[in-house]
Amino acid sequence: MAEKRDYYEVLGVPKNASADDIKRAYKKLAIKYHPDKNPGDKEAENKFKEAAEAYDVLSDEKKKAQYDRFGHEGLSGGGFSGGGFSFEDIFTHFGDIFSDIGGFSGNRSSRGGRGPAPGEDLQMGIALTLKEIAEGTVKKVRIKRYKTCPDCNGKGGSGAKTCESCNGKGQVRRRMRSIFGEMVNVTTCPDCDGTGEAITNKCKTCSGQRRVKTEDTIEVKIPAGVASGNYIKLRNEGNASAQGGATGFLIVHIEEKNDDFFVRDGQNLFCKVLVPVYRLALGGEQRVPTLYGEVKVKISAGLQPGTQLRVRGQGLPGYNSDYKGDLFVEVQAHIPENLSGKEKSLFEELSSLGQARDEKRERSLFERIKEFFS
Ligand SMILES: [Zn+2]
Ligand SMILES: [Zn+2]
Repeated sequence: MAEKRDYYEVLGVPKNASADDIKRAYKKLAIKYHPDKNPGDKEAENKFKEAAEAYDVLSDEKKKAQYDRFGHEGLSGGGFSGGGFSFEDIFTHFGDIFSDIGGFSGNRSSRGGRGPAPGEDLQMGIALTLKEIAEGTVKKVRIKRYKTCPDCNGKGGSGAKTCESCNGKGQVRRRMRSIFGEMVNVTTCPDCDGTGEAITNKCKTCSGQRRVKTEDTIEVKIPAGVASGNYIKLRNEGNASAQGGATGFLIVHIEEKNDDFFVRDGQNLFCKVLVPVYRLALGGEQRVPTLYGEVKVKISAGLQPGTQLRVRGQGLPGYNSDYKGDLFVEVQAHIPENLSGKEKSLFEELSSLGQARDEKRERSLFERIKEFFS
């Protein structure tokens, strides 16, 4: 069996990389080497498998700890015994990370085959706020692309006859001499671009190119629950073909804008809320903004700063599912500043009332520390 590469090296991340960094690095590799994007490429397939395996370990706290201590050896007793990590496993296991909207499977098989080549796929990024991600949105985007020439309907002109260079085959064979001997090279006919037809009267609008440059605005519908790294493939929104083939795809990559208040982790959201000290001591209700409006959370009397309160269903929806994550609110104490004279005297009164309790607490703390050093 071939020597296994270090998992951190495979993903190209340092040993102290965060879970997010590891996920990001994996996504990048997975998209690059995905078999649908590299049909028949054995090396890409191996790279894809290798990255998936590395991610499987480094994304799992337990497996990662074992791997960090013992290396590949540490895992041989686990799920990888016998080198069993099948391709199917990867797809079931990692289906969620791709959240493959539109899909890798929307791949065209016509490319590289017979017939006129399709138009090029176009790529663009769209940045979304968390609110847009929570609710789904429709984005208007300007896009520069080739469209089928309206004057010749993509025919390139009139008076088509069989191309003489290739006898209508669309391909030409060339004999070439190289250091390996004589080679026969089959390429697309340069005179008819593979269509097999020669145009006698070229269209003036597109100079026989069958397509023209345009810039227009289209609407891109984005479902709720997407995440950075997802993409949407829009059929027929890429470049028109210069050879009368199918129109390419427009691939829209989703990026998530940073939010000042909420931090996202999967479908859950985290935020910090300042609660006045009186409310923490006495108990009460605290208003908390959410992506959908606001909620009131209950503050129990004597709640300590740093406590995390969970608000169910105020996180993000999943792509293709109604289940919503939760919102975790970290309680922070707001200490009043610039006290008025009355406030100050009340605090002084509170302080002297609580003195006995505070001293007792401090004493027990110092005793514990003393024990520790003795
Ligand atoms: Zn034209
Ligand atoms: Zn030709």
